[in-house]
Amino acid sequence: MTEGKTIGIVGGGQLGRMLTLAALPLGFKVVVVDPNPNSPASQVGAKEITADLYDSKALNKLAKLADYITIEIEHLDTDILKKIEKLGTPVNPSPGLVRIIQDKFKQKEFFSDKGVPVADYKKIDSKKDAQKALKEFKGKMLLKTRLGAYDGRGNMLVENKKDIDEAFEKFGDTPLYAEKFVPFKKELAVMVSRGLDGSVALYPVVETIHQRNICLEVIAPAEISETEKNRALKVASDVGKHLSGAGMFGIEMFLTKNSEVLVNEIAPRVHNSGHYSMDAARTSQFEQHIRAISGLPLGKTDLLTSAAVMVNILGEHSRPTILSGLENALSIPEVNVHIYGKSPTKVDRKMGHINATGKNVKEARSRANNARKVIQI
Ligand code: AMP
Repeated sequence: MTEGKTIGIVGGGQLGRMLTLAALPLGFKVVVVDPNPNSPASQVGAKEITADLYDSKALNKLAKLADYITIEIEHLDTDILKKIEKLGTPVNPSPGLVRIIQDKFKQKEFFSDKGVPVADYKKIDSKKDAQKALKEFKGKMLLKTRLGAYDGRGNMLVENKKDIDEAFEKFGDTPLYAEKFVPFKKELAVMVSRGLDGSVALYPVVETIHQRNICLEVIAPAEISETEKNRALKVASDVGKHLSGAGMFGIEMFLTKNSEVLVNEIAPRVHNSGHYSMDAARTSQFEQHIRAISGLPLGKTDLLTSAAVMVNILGEHSRPTILSGLENALSIPEVNVHIYGKSPTKVDRKMGHINATGKNVKEARSRANNARKVIQI
Protein backbone atom coordinates (compact mmCIF):
# COMPACT_ATOMS: atom_id res chain seq x y z
CA MET A 1 0.00 0.00 0.00
CA THR A 2 1.26 3.46 -0.84
CA GLU A 3 -1.18 5.24 1.53
CA GLY A 4 0.78 7.06 4.18
CA LYS A 5 4.16 6.20 2.64
CA THR A 6 6.57 9.02 1.98
CA ILE A 7 8.94 9.66 -0.90
CA GLY A 8 12.02 11.69 0.05
CA ILE A 9 13.69 13.64 -2.74
CA VAL A 10 17.12 15.22 -2.55
CA GLY A 11 16.44 18.45 -4.44
CA GLY A 12 13.18 20.34 -4.85
CA GLY A 13 13.66 22.07 -8.22
CA GLN A 14 11.54 21.51 -11.31
CA LEU A 15 12.28 17.78 -11.43
CA GLY A 16 11.36 17.42 -7.74
CA ARG A 17 8.20 19.40 -8.47
CA MET A 18 7.13 17.17 -11.35
CA LEU A 19 8.01 14.04 -9.31
CA THR A 20 5.83 15.41 -6.49
CA LEU A 21 2.97 16.04 -8.92
CA ALA A 22 3.23 12.41 -10.02
CA ALA A 23 3.62 10.92 -6.53
CA LEU A 24 0.62 12.57 -4.83
CA PRO A 25 -2.09 10.93 -7.00
CA LEU A 26 -0.56 7.52 -6.21
CA GLY A 27 -1.20 8.17 -2.52
CA PHE A 28 2.33 9.11 -1.46
CA LYS A 29 3.44 12.05 0.62
CA VAL A 30 6.59 13.85 -0.49
CA VAL A 31 9.41 15.53 1.44
CA VAL A 32 12.27 17.33 -0.31
CA VAL A 33 15.56 18.81 0.80
CA ASP A 34 16.32 22.04 -1.03
CA PRO A 35 18.56 25.01 -0.22
CA ASN A 36 15.87 27.54 -1.14
CA PRO A 37 12.67 28.03 0.86
CA ASN A 38 9.52 27.92 -1.28
CA SER A 39 11.22 25.55 -3.71
CA PRO A 40 9.30 24.53 -6.88
CA ALA A 41 8.44 21.16 -5.25
CA SER A 42 7.22 22.69 -1.98
CA GLN A 43 4.83 24.94 -3.93
CA VAL A 44 2.90 21.90 -5.20
CA GLY A 45 2.57 20.04 -1.91
CA ALA A 46 5.96 18.61 -0.91
CA LYS A 47 7.08 19.26 2.63
CA GLU A 48 10.45 20.99 2.52
CA ILE A 49 13.56 20.70 4.66
CA THR A 50 15.45 23.87 3.81
CA ALA A 51 19.12 22.92 3.78
CA ASP A 52 22.12 22.47 1.56
CA LEU A 53 22.05 19.20 -0.39
CA TYR A 54 25.38 18.24 1.25
CA ASP A 55 24.02 18.80 4.78
CA SER A 56 24.21 15.37 6.47
CA LYS A 57 21.85 16.37 9.30
CA ALA A 58 19.16 17.38 6.80
CA LEU A 59 19.61 14.19 4.79
CA ASN A 60 19.36 12.06 7.95
CA LYS A 61 16.16 13.91 8.81
CA LEU A 62 14.88 13.15 5.30
CA ALA A 63 15.72 9.47 5.84
CA LYS A 64 13.72 9.42 9.08
CA LEU A 65 10.67 10.91 7.36
CA ALA A 66 10.84 8.92 4.12
CA ASP A 67 10.16 5.32 3.18
CA TYR A 68 11.91 5.69 -0.18
CA ILE A 69 14.67 8.13 -1.05
CA THR A 70 15.52 9.38 -4.50
CA ILE A 71 17.34 12.29 -6.15
CA GLU A 72 16.62 14.97 -8.71
CA ILE A 73 20.26 15.93 -9.21
CA GLU A 74 23.49 13.90 -9.29
CA HIS A 75 25.69 16.53 -7.68
CA LEU A 76 25.40 15.48 -4.05
CA ASP A 77 27.22 13.54 -1.34
CA THR A 78 26.87 9.87 -2.23
CA ASP A 79 28.66 8.80 1.00
CA ILE A 80 25.79 10.19 3.08
CA LEU A 81 23.30 8.41 0.82
CA LYS A 82 25.24 5.14 1.22
CA LYS A 83 25.10 5.52 5.02
CA ILE A 84 21.35 6.18 4.89
CA GLU A 85 20.89 3.09 2.75
CA LYS A 86 22.84 0.99 5.27
CA LEU A 87 20.57 2.24 8.04
CA GLY A 88 17.62 0.80 6.16
CA THR A 89 15.92 3.46 3.99
CA PRO A 90 16.13 2.37 0.34
CA VAL A 91 17.92 4.89 -1.89
CA ASN A 92 17.41 4.72 -5.65
CA PRO A 93 19.19 4.93 -8.03
CA SER A 94 22.16 3.29 -6.31
CA PRO A 95 24.50 5.84 -4.68
CA GLY A 96 27.48 3.82 -5.99
CA LEU A 97 26.34 4.34 -9.57
CA VAL A 98 25.61 8.03 -8.95
CA ARG A 99 29.18 8.34 -7.61
CA ILE A 100 30.56 7.06 -10.91
CA ILE A 101 28.21 9.15 -13.04
CA GLN A 102 28.86 12.44 -11.21
CA ASP A 103 32.47 12.39 -12.42
CA LYS A 104 32.08 12.66 -16.20
CA PHE A 105 35.54 11.18 -16.78
CA LYS A 106 34.89 8.16 -14.53
CA GLN A 107 31.50 7.76 -16.19
CA LYS A 108 33.19 7.57 -19.62
CA GLU A 109 35.74 5.03 -18.31
CA PHE A 110 33.06 2.90 -16.65
CA PHE A 111 30.83 2.63 -19.70
CA SER A 112 33.57 2.39 -22.33
CA ASP A 113 35.18 -0.45 -20.29
CA LYS A 114 31.86 -2.24 -20.60
CA GLY A 115 31.95 -1.90 -24.38
CA VAL A 116 29.49 1.01 -24.66
CA PRO A 117 30.47 3.18 -27.66
CA VAL A 118 31.63 6.68 -26.61
CA ALA A 119 33.67 9.47 -28.25
CA ASP A 120 37.45 9.24 -27.73
CA TYR A 121 38.43 10.95 -24.49
CA LYS A 122 41.51 11.62 -22.37
CA LYS A 123 42.30 12.60 -18.80
CA ILE A 124 43.86 16.08 -18.64
CA ASP A 125 46.17 17.12 -15.82
CA SER A 126 48.07 19.96 -17.49
CA LYS A 127 48.12 22.30 -20.47
CA LYS A 128 50.72 19.98 -21.97
CA ASP A 129 48.25 17.06 -21.76
CA ALA A 130 45.64 19.26 -23.45
CA GLN A 131 48.00 20.15 -26.29
CA LYS A 132 48.84 16.47 -26.80
CA ALA A 133 45.17 15.54 -26.78
CA LEU A 134 44.33 18.29 -29.28
CA LYS A 135 46.90 16.86 -31.70
CA GLU A 136 45.54 13.36 -31.19
CA PHE A 137 41.96 14.54 -31.69
CA LYS A 138 42.87 16.22 -34.99
CA GLY A 139 42.63 19.82 -33.82
CA LYS A 140 39.08 19.90 -32.44
CA MET A 141 37.96 18.77 -28.98
CA LEU A 142 35.98 19.79 -25.93
CA LEU A 143 37.58 20.45 -22.60
CA LYS A 144 35.05 19.46 -19.97
CA THR A 145 35.03 19.81 -16.21
CA ARG A 146 34.73 16.37 -14.61
CA LEU A 147 32.57 17.38 -11.64
CA GLY A 148 29.53 19.51 -10.95
CA ALA A 149 28.78 20.46 -14.55
CA TYR A 150 25.23 20.77 -15.81
CA ASP A 151 23.52 22.26 -18.86
CA GLY A 152 26.85 22.41 -20.70
CA ARG A 153 28.26 24.92 -18.20
CA GLY A 154 31.56 23.11 -17.80
CA ASN A 155 32.33 22.67 -21.51
CA MET A 156 34.59 24.58 -23.86
CA LEU A 157 35.28 23.91 -27.52
CA VAL A 158 39.02 24.00 -28.09
CA GLU A 159 40.78 24.32 -31.46
CA ASN A 160 44.14 25.92 -30.68
CA LYS A 161 46.63 26.86 -27.97
CA LYS A 162 44.84 30.13 -27.21
CA ASP A 163 41.60 28.23 -26.53
CA ILE A 164 43.48 25.90 -24.18
CA ASP A 165 44.87 28.88 -22.25
CA GLU A 166 41.38 30.37 -22.05
CA ALA A 167 39.85 27.11 -20.85
CA PHE A 168 42.49 26.71 -18.11
CA GLU A 169 41.86 30.27 -17.01
CA LYS A 170 38.10 29.79 -16.99
CA PHE A 171 38.08 26.42 -15.22
CA GLY A 172 40.96 27.16 -12.81
CA ASP A 173 41.92 24.15 -10.68
CA THR A 174 38.81 22.10 -11.53
CA PRO A 175 39.76 18.63 -12.78
CA LEU A 176 39.28 18.36 -16.54
CA TYR A 177 39.13 15.81 -19.31
CA ALA A 178 39.14 16.15 -23.08
CA GLU A 179 36.72 14.67 -25.55
CA LYS A 180 37.14 14.46 -29.31
CA PHE A 181 34.67 16.73 -31.12
CA VAL A 182 31.90 14.62 -32.66
CA PRO A 183 30.48 16.16 -35.86
CA PHE A 184 27.08 14.66 -35.15
CA LYS A 185 24.08 14.53 -37.48
CA LYS A 186 21.64 14.59 -34.60
CA GLU A 187 21.57 14.27 -30.83
CA LEU A 188 19.34 11.51 -29.54
CA ALA A 189 18.11 10.37 -26.16
CA VAL A 190 16.37 7.33 -24.74
CA MET A 191 14.82 7.26 -21.28
CA VAL A 192 15.38 3.90 -19.61
CA SER A 193 13.25 2.84 -16.65
CA ARG A 194 14.36 0.10 -14.25
CA GLY A 195 12.05 -1.42 -11.67
CA LEU A 196 13.12 -2.71 -8.25
CA ASP A 197 12.50 -6.24 -9.55
CA GLY A 198 14.99 -5.72 -12.39
CA SER A 199 12.32 -5.12 -15.05
CA VAL A 200 13.35 -2.64 -17.75
CA ALA A 201 11.22 -0.49 -20.07
CA LEU A 202 12.60 1.84 -22.73
CA TYR A 203 10.88 4.99 -23.94
CA PRO A 204 11.00 5.85 -27.67
CA VAL A 205 14.12 7.35 -29.24
CA VAL A 206 13.82 11.14 -29.30
CA GLU A 207 15.89 13.88 -30.91
CA THR A 208 17.23 16.61 -28.66
CA ILE A 209 18.16 20.03 -30.00
CA HIS A 210 20.52 22.21 -27.97
CA GLN A 211 21.20 25.93 -27.92
CA ARG A 212 24.37 27.14 -26.18
CA ASN A 213 24.75 23.56 -24.81
CA ILE A 214 21.29 23.69 -23.18
CA CYS A 215 18.44 21.47 -24.25
CA LEU A 216 15.95 23.60 -26.17
CA GLU A 217 13.67 21.18 -28.01
CA VAL A 218 12.85 17.48 -27.89
CA ILE A 219 11.21 15.71 -30.81
CA ALA A 220 9.40 12.43 -30.24
CA PRO A 221 9.81 10.18 -32.07
CA ALA A 222 13.21 11.09 -33.56
CA GLU A 223 13.05 11.41 -37.34
CA ILE A 224 15.75 8.87 -38.17
CA SER A 225 15.87 5.60 -40.12
CA GLU A 226 14.64 2.32 -38.61
CA THR A 227 18.23 1.04 -38.55
CA GLU A 228 19.40 4.13 -36.65
CA LYS A 229 16.46 3.85 -34.27
CA ASN A 230 17.20 0.20 -33.53
CA ARG A 231 20.87 1.00 -33.05
CA ALA A 232 20.04 3.72 -30.50
CA LEU A 233 17.63 1.40 -28.66
CA LYS A 234 20.26 -1.37 -28.60
CA VAL A 235 22.90 1.00 -27.18
CA ALA A 236 20.44 2.31 -24.55
CA SER A 237 19.44 -1.21 -23.61
CA ASP A 238 23.13 -2.23 -23.31
CA VAL A 239 23.73 0.80 -21.05
CA GLY A 240 20.69 -0.32 -19.03
CA LYS A 241 22.40 -3.63 -18.24
CA HIS A 242 25.22 -1.78 -16.46
CA LEU A 243 23.02 0.54 -14.39
CA SER A 244 22.20 -0.30 -10.81
CA GLY A 245 19.25 0.65 -8.70
CA ALA A 246 15.75 1.57 -9.77
CA GLY A 247 14.31 4.63 -11.46
CA MET A 248 14.57 6.60 -14.66
CA PHE A 249 17.86 7.11 -16.45
CA GLY A 250 18.41 9.50 -19.37
CA ILE A 251 20.82 8.17 -22.01
CA GLU A 252 22.06 11.02 -24.19
CA MET A 253 23.62 10.01 -27.49
CA PHE A 254 25.19 11.36 -30.66
CA LEU A 255 24.14 10.03 -34.07
CA THR A 256 27.21 10.50 -36.23
CA LYS A 257 27.23 11.34 -39.95
CA ASN A 258 27.84 7.66 -40.73
CA SER A 259 24.94 6.60 -38.53
CA GLU A 260 27.03 5.37 -35.62
CA VAL A 261 25.56 5.87 -32.15
CA LEU A 262 27.88 7.13 -29.37
CA VAL A 263 26.80 7.69 -25.78
CA ASN A 264 27.44 11.27 -24.65
CA GLU A 265 26.32 10.99 -21.05
CA ILE A 266 23.95 9.36 -18.64
CA ALA A 267 21.66 11.11 -16.17
CA PRO A 268 20.71 8.91 -13.19
CA ARG A 269 17.30 10.54 -12.84
CA VAL A 270 14.32 11.91 -14.72
CA HIS A 271 15.57 14.09 -17.53
CA ASN A 272 14.61 17.02 -19.74
CA SER A 273 14.51 14.75 -22.80
CA GLY A 274 11.62 12.86 -21.18
CA HIS A 275 9.37 15.82 -20.32
CA TYR A 276 7.21 15.24 -23.42
CA SER A 277 6.03 12.00 -21.74
CA MET A 278 3.88 14.01 -19.29
CA ASP A 279 1.34 14.71 -22.03
CA ALA A 280 2.21 12.23 -24.76
CA ALA A 281 3.23 8.85 -23.33
CA ARG A 282 1.13 6.18 -21.63
CA THR A 283 3.13 6.69 -18.42
CA SER A 284 4.99 9.93 -17.75
CA GLN A 285 8.65 9.58 -16.79
CA PHE A 286 7.81 11.12 -13.41
CA GLU A 287 5.13 8.56 -12.57
CA GLN A 288 7.41 5.82 -13.90
CA HIS A 289 10.21 6.95 -11.58
CA ILE A 290 7.90 6.93 -8.55
CA ARG A 291 6.58 3.50 -9.53
CA ALA A 292 10.12 2.20 -10.03
CA ILE A 293 11.63 3.37 -6.74
CA SER A 294 8.65 2.26 -4.66
CA GLY A 295 8.51 -1.25 -6.11
CA LEU A 296 5.30 -0.75 -8.10
CA PRO A 297 5.04 -2.30 -11.57
CA LEU A 298 6.45 -0.18 -14.42
CA GLY A 299 3.89 1.39 -16.75
CA LYS A 300 3.80 1.17 -20.53
CA THR A 301 6.14 3.61 -22.23
CA ASP A 302 4.64 3.99 -25.69
CA LEU A 303 3.61 7.30 -27.27
CA LEU A 304 -0.12 8.02 -27.27
CA THR A 305 0.18 10.22 -30.34
CA SER A 306 2.03 10.08 -33.66
CA ALA A 307 4.25 13.03 -32.67
CA ALA A 308 5.10 15.14 -29.63
CA VAL A 309 7.46 18.08 -29.25
CA MET A 310 8.74 19.69 -26.06
CA VAL A 311 10.16 23.21 -26.07
CA ASN A 312 11.88 24.56 -22.98
CA ILE A 313 10.93 27.99 -21.72
CA LEU A 314 14.41 29.40 -21.07
CA GLY A 315 14.68 32.75 -19.36
CA GLU A 316 15.57 35.62 -21.70
CA HIS A 317 16.12 38.37 -19.12
CA SER A 318 17.27 38.71 -15.55
CA ARG A 319 14.31 40.05 -13.61
CA PRO A 320 11.61 39.00 -11.15
CA THR A 321 9.40 36.39 -12.77
CA ILE A 322 6.18 37.67 -14.35
CA LEU A 323 4.35 35.15 -16.51
CA SER A 324 2.21 36.40 -19.39
CA GLY A 325 0.85 35.12 -22.70
CA LEU A 326 -0.60 31.91 -21.28
CA GLU A 327 -4.01 32.58 -22.82
CA ASN A 328 -2.56 32.88 -26.31
CA ALA A 329 -0.39 29.81 -25.85
CA LEU A 330 -3.27 27.68 -24.62
CA SER A 331 -5.51 28.76 -27.49
CA ILE A 332 -3.26 26.68 -29.77
CA PRO A 333 -4.67 23.13 -30.01
CA GLU A 334 -2.90 20.23 -28.30
CA VAL A 335 -0.59 22.49 -26.28
CA ASN A 336 0.20 22.02 -22.57
CA VAL A 337 2.24 24.45 -20.53
CA HIS A 338 4.24 23.53 -17.42
CA ILE A 339 5.62 26.41 -15.34
CA TYR A 340 8.16 25.63 -12.61
CA GLY A 341 7.42 28.41 -10.09
CA LYS A 342 10.97 29.78 -10.07
CA SER A 343 11.87 33.37 -9.36
CA PRO A 344 13.77 35.38 -10.44
CA THR A 345 13.96 34.74 -14.18
CA LYS A 346 17.55 34.50 -15.36
CA VAL A 347 19.00 34.25 -18.85
CA ASP A 348 18.89 30.59 -19.94
CA ARG A 349 17.33 29.46 -16.63
CA LYS A 350 14.81 26.67 -17.21
CA MET A 351 11.53 28.38 -16.21
CA GLY A 352 9.07 25.89 -17.68
CA HIS A 353 8.33 23.88 -20.78
CA ILE A 354 5.69 23.44 -23.45
CA ASN A 355 4.48 20.09 -24.72
CA ALA A 356 2.58 19.89 -27.99
CA THR A 357 1.24 16.95 -29.93
CA GLY A 358 0.14 16.67 -33.55
CA LYS A 359 -0.47 14.33 -36.45
CA ASN A 360 3.20 14.64 -37.41
CA VAL A 361 6.41 16.22 -36.08
CA LYS A 362 5.99 19.29 -38.28
CA GLU A 363 2.58 20.07 -36.79
CA ALA A 364 3.61 19.37 -33.19
CA ARG A 365 6.79 21.41 -33.61
CA SER A 366 5.02 24.38 -35.07
CA ARG A 367 2.42 24.32 -32.27
CA ALA A 368 5.07 24.11 -29.55
CA ASN A 369 7.20 26.89 -31.03
CA ASN A 370 4.21 29.16 -31.67
CA ALA A 371 3.19 28.70 -28.04
CA ARG A 372 6.75 29.49 -26.94
CA LYS A 373 6.73 32.74 -28.94
CA VAL A 374 3.70 34.13 -27.11
CA ILE A 375 4.84 33.26 -23.60
CA GLN A 376 6.83 35.81 -21.64
CA ILE A 377 8.34 35.05 -18.30
P1 AMP B 1 27.37 17.82 -22.07
O1 AMP B 1 26.95 18.77 -20.98
O2 AMP B 1 28.76 17.32 -21.93
O3 AMP B 1 26.36 16.76 -22.33
O4 AMP B 1 27.36 18.71 -23.40
C1 AMP B 1 26.33 19.59 -23.74
C2 AMP B 1 26.21 19.68 -25.25
O5 AMP B 1 27.47 20.03 -25.83
C3 AMP B 1 25.85 18.38 -25.93
O6 AMP B 1 24.47 18.14 -25.88
C4 AMP B 1 26.36 18.65 -27.34
O7 AMP B 1 25.50 19.51 -28.03
C5 AMP B 1 27.66 19.38 -27.07
N1 AMP B 1 28.78 18.40 -26.98
C6 AMP B 1 29.20 17.78 -25.86
N2 AMP B 1 30.21 16.92 -26.12
C7 AMP B 1 30.45 17.01 -27.44
C8 AMP B 1 31.37 16.37 -28.33
N3 AMP B 1 32.29 15.48 -27.90
N4 AMP B 1 31.33 16.72 -29.64
C9 AMP B 1 30.43 17.63 -30.11
N5 AMP B 1 29.54 18.26 -29.32
C10 AMP B 1 29.53 17.97 -28.00
